[in-house]
Amino acid sequence: MFNNFVYQNPVKILFGKGQIAQLGKQIPTEAKILLTYGGGSIFQNGVYEQVKKALEGRNVVEFGGIEANPTYETLMQAVELGRQEQITFLLAVGGGSVLDGTKFIAAAIPFEGEDAWQIVTGKEKYKTAIPLGAVLTLPATGSEMNYYAVISKKSTQEKKGMGGPLVYPKFSILDPETTYSLPPRQIANGIADAFTHVMEQYMTYPVDAQIQDRFAESVLQTLIEVATKTLENPTDYEARANFMWAATVALNGWIGLGVPQDWATHQIGHEITAFHGVDHARTLAVVLPHLLKFKEVDKRAKLIQYAKRVWNLSGTDDELVAGAIQKTGAFYESLGLPIKASEYGVNQETIAKIKQRFIERGVNFGEKADITPEAVEQILAMSIA
Ligand code: NAP
Ligand code: FE
Repeated sequence: MFNNFVYQNPVKILFGKGQIAQLGKQIPTEAKILLTYGGGSIFQNGVYEQVKKALEGRNVVEFGGIEANPTYETLMQAVELGRQEQITFLLAVGGGSVLDGTKFIAAAIPFEGEDAWQIVTGKEKYKTAIPLGAVLTLPATGSEMNYYAVISKKSTQEKKGMGGPLVYPKFSILDPETTYSLPPRQIANGIADAFTHVMEQYMTYPVDAQIQDRFAESVLQTLIEVATKTLENPTDYEARANFMWAATVALNGWIGLGVPQDWATHQIGHEITAFHGVDHARTLAVVLPHLLKFKEVDKRAKLIQYAKRVWNLSGTDDELVAGAIQKTGAFYESLGLPIKASEYGVNQETIAKIKQRFIERGVNFGEKADITPEAVEQILAMSIA
């Protein structure tokens, strides 16, 4: 059945060439701003200068060094600084890691509890957050228009999702030209992450949600179409613009309205990153093809629809199911992402540790809540076979 839904997304998007110049007008004039960034790419591609120019004369403090898969340990240093400086607005400039990390900082600065990590585990609620805005430089996560953040804790090798309406960005600026400097590996990762976000919300069982299905299929097709183009020609503006917007709508809530959602691939992937430090998108590529195979009976109707509509395949239903799974794996591989977890050193030992994590969580994943710890074990076993 087409499920009921309530939807409200308050994020203002400023999309296109030169939009960083509009930055000043988006932030209250009296604000004390903390500008957060990553390892320094913004100094090499001119984004930092554009941001500083747009904020001329404004009260800005900076915090750099937020790493890929942002850690609680690093982010707490920004929280300290934010408290000391009495920051009233956060501006994240970078990729999903900087945006996610800044969402945590926003919730943690005013948090009065003893241990801010509990915001991430969900054991403690945060009641308020510092407003934040973003200048996105890496299309992938959708973090620019959603309220999720994924935070890692180094000391315990954990990686967990948090979120909530309080950490929606007030605005996000998306200028496709800021992505020209991305290395091909990050573009490939971004395409794979966005592609998988759509699959998590689409590849379940049909509920006759026609708008959502066709919307999801159009995003998948767009990603497939622009992948080679944008990798081969990084300064093809139209290809980058389509990629950037596809990545945003892949996870701003729209395509998930009224439909069952899976998300087991992401949950398993986070554990692979936690134990092996693998790039987020690369973990998805080693899980999804095997998960689809593992769930091919339950997902059969949707796999057939996907084979026909997204990949233009024809044949018997069995051929379509097999073709759908094969095409998905081949797409990741065409981007240079392996589909075997063994490539990253995942072995029986890691699988046992990951299974244990799922046992401890005590909840199952997948659209039918049937991805049990044993199912996770089997899917990962397929991925190292
Ligand atoms: P990222 O970790 O933010 O960035 C990866 C690398 O790309 C960094 O080294 C960064 O360098 C570099 N980079 C960024 N923009 C660049 C540019 N324009 N030119 C050159 N280099 C650039 O990558 P991401 O894929 O966007 O984010 C991954 C994180 O998001 C993971 O932790 C994942 O779990 C999470 N995630 C979140 C959501 C969500 O809904 N919030 C969804 C999926 C995944 P610098 O550090 O030097 O800038
Ligand atoms: Fe993701």
